[in-house]
Amino acid sequence: MAYQTVNPYTNEVVQKYNNSTPEEIEAALAQAYDLYQSWRDDPVASRTKYLHKLSQYFTTHVDELAQVLVTDMGKLYSEAQGEVAICADIAEYYAQNAERLLAPKSIPTIAGQAQVLNRPYGVLMAVEPWNFPYYQIMRVFAPYFAAGDPMVLKHASNTPGAALAFEKAVQAVGAPAGSFKNLFLSYDQVSEVIADERIAGVCLTGSERGGRSVAKEAGQNLKKSTMELGGNDVFMVLDDANLAEAEKIAASSRLYNCGQVCTSSKRFIVTEKNYDHFLENLKQQFAAVKMGDPMDPETTLAPMCSKKNKNKLQEQVDEAIAAGATVYYGNEPVDLPGQFFQPTILTDIDRDNPAYYAEMFGPVAQVYKVKDEAEAIKLANDSHLGLGGIVFSGDPQHGAEVAAKIETGMVFVNTYLSTLPELPFGGVKQSGYGRELGDDCIYQFVNQELVVKNPQAGLPDNRFGGLIAPGLIKD
Ligand code: NAP
Repeated sequence: MAYQTVNPYTNEVVQKYNNSTPEEIEAALAQAYDLYQSWRDDPVASRTKYLHKLSQYFTTHVDELAQVLVTDMGKLYSEAQGEVAICADIAEYYAQNAERLLAPKSIPTIAGQAQVLNRPYGVLMAVEPWNFPYYQIMRVFAPYFAAGDPMVLKHASNTPGAALAFEKAVQAVGAPAGSFKNLFLSYDQVSEVIADERIAGVCLTGSERGGRSVAKEAGQNLKKSTMELGGNDVFMVLDDANLAEAEKIAASSRLYNCGQVCTSSKRFIVTEKNYDHFLENLKQQFAAVKMGDPMDPETTLAPMCSKKNKNKLQEQVDEAIAAGATVYYGNEPVDLPGQFFQPTILTDIDRDNPAYYAEMFGPVAQVYKVKDEAEAIKLANDSHLGLGGIVFSGDPQHGAEVAAKIETGMVFVNTYLSTLPELPFGGVKQSGYGRELGDDCIYQFVNQELVVKNPQAGLPDNRFGGLIAPGLIKD
């Protein structure tokens, strides 16, 4: 597979890269493993100082870093700046909180003085996607770096520029050699790295297809893994919703990042009462977008990230139409050289239409009309994915109750779905397992080592006779 930057606005091949050689891979693993061994004796604060510097680096290099995203995958410049800013926040969050999170925890027990120590876990292999090329790396790098886990990265083959820019940032702040190494790996090389005994765990963000392959490799080698996979999130508008508020964010919930977001609202589920108004309003908003140069502040819809992805989306739309879906708006060719896709609204999607269960990763909205709330919840849960979701209800408490009935990882009521360092991110069902961000994610890749100390001379009086076996219980 070729690692290359092809600018999706100009179609220019900007740069190609060779795959990493076996020698480069061996050197990266050796250096990372050596660092893990030395980090086992170092306090957390010896690492968090670099995260603080990394946060500053992202803040002070925002324009340079954002430009790389525009060239690699066509992101709007303003959105690219936003991505760099959230990366700075994530690095700073773990800089400030990792020591607290990783402090030993005492456990009251009759066994003695018990503590769980949060020790480094080992070298991690990260496999990441192109849609948020820095943010996806930072979500796993910052917490696990703080925990003492060096990382090797296999980034998406179409965002090598971002992978190198992230590596440069980690080097620029003086983090120890081996902390983070980008490798341009083929799929077979990824498998070999996962199998290497110096690798302790694997974290992937990507599609179900990619997740299935990499999780299989991890499982075969008994390596712990976390999987952040696709989403087919609902945007639910209930009878009592404030329709104007819902409509204010409906289009951007679908079109942000050109619709290439795991938590984009991909299925709009609207009760009969609001359906016609909502659909017409969404059409007007989709028709009002301005496609063009991602660097131009007037542009509101960027090109898709690649010709391959645009073609895949077009195939999905064609299949949906062939199976009976109605094009309510869009699906016309765009007269621009870049990989543009006209925002499109599909309705009348039956359960046997392939689009019903498909994740459409681009600016295409599916809109469903339902009789009532019960039908809305049933439809929301009729998905093999469960990542995020949005619910609009006139009563936020009732909206939260409906949210709890949706089988998914994250729901936002009467507001847009956002990501912040303190909020855990992840899903259920085929959307994967594990969580990134928030406080608890850090424990996924630490060795929660139990140490029990007998504070007195002689053995303590233990009613289990020292061993937990039924035959040994005294009373
Ligand atoms: P993808 O094809 O699975 O690619 C993601 C990463 O996995 C890339 O680095 C890719 O490398 C690599 N990869 C794929 N198959 C592999 C294999 N067999 N062995 C080793 N590496 C492999 O995903 P995508 O389609 O580019 O990304 C979009 C998907 O990611 C969507 O489904 C989206 O919902 C999901 N996503 C989820 C989250 C989340 O947090 N849950 C966030 C963002 C995106 P190559 O580029 O070289 O193929």
